[in-house]
Amino acid sequence: MLGYKVPFVNPSKHYELLKEEILNSIDDVLSRGDLVLRRDVEEFERNIASFVGTKYAIGLNSGTDALFFALEAAGIRQNDEVITVAHTFVASVSAIVHCGAKPILIDVGEDFTIDANKIEEKISSKTKAIIPVHLNGRCCDMEKLMTIAKKHNLIVIEDAAQALGAKFKTKEGKWKIAGSFGLAGAFSFYPFKVLGAFGDGGIMATSDENIAEKVRLLRDHGQKTKTELACYGWNSRLDNLQAAILNVKFKHLSEWIKRRREIAGIYNKGLSGISGIELPPSPDSDLRRFDVYQNYVLRVLKRDELAMYLKERGVETLIKDPIALHHHPALGLSNFRLPYTEQLAEEVISLPIYPELTKGEIKYVIDCIRKFYV
Ligand SMILES: *Cc1c(COP(=O)(O)O)cnc(C)c1O
Repeated sequence: MLGYKVPFVNPSKHYELLKEEILNSIDDVLSRGDLVLRRDVEEFERNIASFVGTKYAIGLNSGTDALFFALEAAGIRQNDEVITVAHTFVASVSAIVHCGAKPILIDVGEDFTIDANKIEEKISSKTKAIIPVHLNGRCCDMEKLMTIAKKHNLIVIEDAAQALGAKFKTKEGKWKIAGSFGLAGAFSFYPFKVLGAFGDGGIMATSDENIAEKVRLLRDHGQKTKTELACYGWNSRLDNLQAAILNVKFKHLSEWIKRRREIAGIYNKGLSGISGIELPPSPDSDLRRFDVYQNYVLRVLKRDELAMYLKERGVETLIKDPIALHHHPALGLSNFRLPYTEQLAEEVISLPIYPELTKGEIKYVIDCIRKFYV
């Protein structure tokens, strides 16, 4: 990372700007001796539940466990089928596999989220759930999806790991937050997510009391009280110190989302009209969506050459999935044929996007890309 003029992420700059607040909160927590599941976790759970609009939020060690526990608590088991996409981070699929169930992968639409029109043809008598993935900070079409789920009596667990704060407007004209549509929503606080800890963290949001209760048990070895075990569980608690840090950062979340949207708008304007590039939707282009731009992803021609060209000019980019998920032989998913997903594996590239990016840095990235395509 050192040496890049515009690094893909910049955790030390992020820290520098928050240093005083963060160090004060760490000092406070350590002085109180509050290390495991203390009031900072509870406060953070309340913050997220109220932000997302669910009754409960359960702090966990990762977004992966938030997904896995939600499925587990919803009763997904062996011989069940769960529909999701292949154009996602592997955790969306591994959570299904870890429940003993079978992932059924379908293609995404033009905006990289689940193509709701392809769901019904994959529903069988074994189908129990759908996991829509709100990829890159864009909420799936949850109206279509919830209608299908209701019609076929399917559970919906939202993978909102990349989408804290993303919204979708319902037919009635009401904004609803990603993660609050289904039975549960899974969020990640991996350091480079919209809201990131200084380590791992996750949360499962739900308004279902039963699911909340079960996940609370699953994260702490089934310990209902210090002496009563209600089930077998795991060790997957959100670290109290990370929760304290997240409470500090949470105060900045809205301003960070605003800045990400601004940057996406500047990129879109600066990169418009170049043949060979397909831009993500602009922040205000879709009246029913509020994207948080976890990632800024282009579909481009000559993708690998572009990445090399930018690297030579000090711009770090990310090509996250050069091999489509279902094409990794070790995962046992190679029976799926997903033409659009396979094409995206060859064409997508992510540009740096984080609140700390300067105007000059954004302009430099745009200028380099324009030069490459002239
Ligand atoms: C990051 C991410 C996860 C997993 O979150 P972790 O906190 O890293 O376990 C799951 N799904 C998607 C789409 C993600 O981007």
